[in-house]
Amino acid sequence: MTHTLPPLPYATGALEPYIDQKTMEVHHGKHHRGYVHHLNKAIEGTTLANQPLEEILRIRNNGGGHYNHTLFWEILSPKSSSPGVELLSAIEQQWGTLETFQEQFTQAAITRFGSGWAWLCVGGSKELHICSTPNQDNPLMDTVPAEHWGVPILCLDVWEHAYYLQYQNRRSEYVTAFWNVVNWEEVACRFTKAMSL
Ligand code: MN
Repeated sequence: MTHTLPPLPYATGALEPYIDQKTMEVHHGKHHRGYVHHLNKAIEGTTLANQPLEEILRIRNNGGGHYNHTLFWEILSPKSSSPGVELLSAIEQQWGTLETFQEQFTQAAITRFGSGWAWLCVGGSKELHICSTPNQDNPLMDTVPAEHWGVPILCLDVWEHAYYLQYQNRRSEYVTAFWNVVNWEEVACRFTKAMSL
């Protein structure tokens, strides 16, 4: 099995002005492509070559980088959307309001030290929780604390390369802008799927 770079589900400039075209071109076309390339090189001729991506996340950096970015592109959209009844009520049950959830997710993204990701996950007892991970780790890996384990349904890349061209060191401005381009329909769809696992 050769892993391939999935095409973006929208034009590289579609998320302007919140995420600019140049950032998307470099982020998807160079960074994500690099993860796929190095992942394929690392597994070539090994028993992992025929394994699905979920099985090889233990090749942490490149496998994680590929999985994380693939999810990230899919949960972004230039089209405005809302979480829908089922996901919204689960969020309200956990955090009271959607706004409070967004504040706490934003906080997790801003306070992640160095490079990493913020996550909304469906955990082992089907509860929603927010966490963050360093580098290209994610909550499917056995490297995260047990209480952070879960199936990711929303994520945000807070590596500097995700925002530096447009926002320089102003990570919080990037995180605030992110909420304008979340594909809530896709997040809701992933929520439903994770709840039925
Ligand atoms: Mn990235």
